[in-house]
Amino acid sequence: MGGTPTTPHELVIVPEGMIADLLTREASFAAVETVFAAMAAGAAYNFPVVREAIGHEDALYGFKGGFDRAGGVLGLKAGGYWPNNLEKHGLINHQSTVFLFDPDTGRVSAMVGGNYLTALRTAAAASVSIKHLARRDAKVLGMIGAGHQATFQLRAALEAHDFDKVIGWNYHPEMLPNLAKVAAEMDVPFEAVELPGLVAADVIITITSSFAPTLLAEHVSPGTHIACMGTDTKGKQEVEAALLARATVFCDEAAQSISIGEAQHAIAEGLITEGDITQLGAVINGTNPGRTSDEEITLFDGTGVGLQDLAVAASIVEVAVKNGTATLVAL
Ligand code: NAD
Repeated sequence: MGGTPTTPHELVIVPEGMIADLLTREASFAAVETVFAAMAAGAAYNFPVVREAIGHEDALYGFKGGFDRAGGVLGLKAGGYWPNNLEKHGLINHQSTVFLFDPDTGRVSAMVGGNYLTALRTAAAASVSIKHLARRDAKVLGMIGAGHQATFQLRAALEAHDFDKVIGWNYHPEMLPNLAKVAAEMDVPFEAVELPGLVAADVIITITSSFAPTLLAEHVSPGTHIACMGTDTKGKQEVEAALLARATVFCDEAAQSISIGEAQHAIAEGLITEGDITQLGAVINGTNPGRTSDEEITLFDGTGVGLQDLAVAASIVEVAVKNGTATLVAL
């Protein structure tokens, strides 16, 4: 009677509350490493990011999407930042949901809570960069940032590499116990330092919401690997632009790195060009050598791409369907 012809199919729903039980750090790491490799091989690509101030509740809302032809994963993460959530509703301020679609038909196939997933996939990206770019003998991990993401970053990095010690600095020093607690859980000593003390680090992760550089070139020793993870918006900045000129620069995706990542500033100052930036996936694939000496400073500009979200969401769906914990809705 005038309806559109269709055949039944199922929508898989995995709500936010179930994700922590279904998603391991190992699975996040594997999904992110694989999709970075696919991106560099040209088998997966991200769509332009949409991010809008919607003029309601001071919220920033947007979409990050992409298509991984190699993995057969198509979709988007929708969500953003609602600054009043915690105070008004007792909810975390970052809210997102991943939607997956059947690439053969375009029909929606899954809806997956995106909050916990985002923290794990972001931490996994830094860890993948540490695996492929840090010196094998790196012993001291430096942390800049001690907020929500920083604890996930620290846990993942300590799992990905055998560090002897963690040192950390934060703009709000009262938050440093967040790092100390994770380090203690992982049985690694932690020491709070001033910024110049970061010269002792072999690997540095920056994960703050800063709009001005805190880590300067003089705070970094030769041979250090830096994972810059906090800068994901125009105007944000965690490290001095001169540091990118001194380092060999890698990224998740060049288009994002130069527009919303740490490289936006070094490019604007004319210190580097887009051609100086290599996708980490090329190192994973072996088409770029990555680090070439123990004195080289490597810097990973991790802006967070939609394909990371989709890859990790797809792995969650697979586990949830296999172990029977997913909710299936007949459509
Ligand atoms: P949070 O609010 O929990 O923590 C913010 C951190 O930034 C704290 O360590 C705080 O002390 C520090 N900070 C705040 N103002 C500062 C300033 N003026 N100078 C220096 N440091 C300052 O936030 P979070 O959830 O941990 O997120 C941290 C950052 O990571 C944000 O910028 C967020 O957008 C970004 N992020 C990036 C990705 C990605 O894929 N790259 C993913 C998620 C979040």
